[in-house]
Order: sequence, then structure tokens, then C-alpha cells
Amino acid sequence: MDTLPRGERYERLMRLVSLARSLEAQGYPNAAKLYWALAHSQQLRESRQVAPCELDNKMAAAIDCLKADNADPQLIEALKHGRQALAEKRPIRHTEIPSVRVCRTCGEIFLGDPPPRCPECAARPITFLEFLPMYHWETLTPSQALVALASAPDEVRAAVQGMSEEQMLQKPDPEAASVHSLVFHIAFDQELLAERIEKMLTQPYPQLEGVAAWADAEDEQIPVQQLLERYQRSREETVRRLMHISYEDWQRSGWHNEFGRVTILQQVCYFARHERGHLPQIEEARRLVGG
Ligand SMILES: [Zn+2]
Repeated sequence: MDTLPRGERYERLMRLVSLARSLEAQGYPNAAKLYWALAHSQQLRESRQVAPCELDNKMAAAIDCLKADNADPQLIEALKHGRQALAEKRPIRHTEIPSVRVCRTCGEIFLGDPPPRCPECAARPITFLEFLPMYHWETLTPSQALVALASAPDEVRAAVQGMSEEQMLQKPDPEAASVHSLVFHIAFDQELLAERIEKMLTQPYPQLEGVAAWADAEDEQIPVQQLLERYQRSREETVRRLMHISYEDWQRSGWHNEFGRVTILQQVCYFARHERGHLPQIEEARRLVGG
């Protein structure tokens, strides 16, 4: 596929998007969704990740290009905040880059609270497409979220079943995480989730301080078996705690520096997806150390 010249690949992508939009407009959403999926798949397959050392230059070039196109100055400002944070190796605050939405009808882009209607096409904000900081924030229903939370410890346990402690402490390569550190991270996050839920259930709009990824200093002395038990116990308590809360309580919220207002339901969905995201990493680490 990517042996095609660049221009042709771009043309093909645009054809897929045009078909998707037209089919949607003509009332064939089930056909449209296939073209949207194909377009998204093509974008993922034909783009490569930018090397960390090239990120700053590429961001600068993208910002210059948008400036030349007379993009919204507020958007340019937000993009610069992103570039700045990377240079300073720090998380980006929600106040620097607020929520972002795109009008599905005309493509207009909105930062922060959207206006009551799109100035270009009068579409209403509930129809806009919001881009979340990560797919982890897409919500499930409370019962789906509870099933995901309750079933995760068994999946983590199964992924490491039969490995020795030595194998689990072994790094597959100097840059990669060991199985031990991944399980440690998952267990640590469960405790963080439990703490945040308790805060949101008992305090009015608490502050949920962000924790940098891997800020939890790994304690290699704790055997994985023990980490798994701790994780499971804490998770069971969390599930029991959430099992009987009301619909309104799922919507209780706190303020997170990086993500803004966050509800209990969003937080639960985030953690449930986040820990699942580490399973392929555990499996890969296991394969590489021959466990
Ligand atoms: Zn619009």
C-alpha cells in the first residue's frame, strides 16, 4: 500500500472521507462507518511515529504552517504551550490546553467551552466531536465499568502465571519495563484509583493531583505474588464500594490539573482501560525473557 506515491495515498484517504460523509448525509450510516474506519486505519498504517529528538522541530514547523494559514491565535497559543511543556519535560495543565472539539458539519475547531452554536454552520455543541486527551477517557456505562474493574485482576494474574520471580524482575532490554515493574505500576494505580474515588464520594469537588507516569518508585523487594494479592484485595473493595452508589454519585467529580473536571465514572473507565493497555506489554516482556 505505502509503495503508492504520497499524492495518491492522500487522494485515496480523501476519497474515503468524502464517501463516509456523503453516505452519512444520504442516510446510510452503516455503510459510512466502514469508510470512516478505513480512513482511520489508513492514517494509522501510513503514518510513522516521530522520533522523540525530532518532535520539537516538527511541532515548530506545524505551528508555523498554521500561523501562515491564519489559524485561530488561541489555538496557536495552546499548541505553543504543548511545545513548551515538552521542552520542560512536564505535564500540560488543563488551563494551558483546554478541551477541544470539531464541528462535525463544517470542521470548525473550538477550544475550551464551545459556543451555543457553530458560527459557521449553526450546528449545536452536543453534535461536535470532542477529542479526548486519550481514548481512556471514553466512558462506559457504570455496569460495564464495574465488570471491567472486577475482571482485570484475573487477567493480570493469568498473564504472569508460571513465571519465576527472577524472570519477572528481568528487563527484556535496558529501556523496557520488567514484568515486575508493570505489575507494580498496575497495583499502585489501583490504590490511587481507590483513594480518588473515596475523595470524590466524600468531599465536594476535591483536587485530584496528577501523578507522573512511573512516579511510583518501584520496590523490587515485594514479590509479584504479593503485589497481585494487594491489587486484588484493593480492587475488590473498590468494586464493593461502587456497586451500590447511585447514578448521581457516579457523576460526582473532582478537579485534575491535567484533565480538568473528572467524574467518578470517567476516572473508573480511565483506569480500567489503562491497566488493560499494559497487558500486551506484560505479554511481550514475558516472551522476551523466555518466561
Ligand atoms: Zn459548524
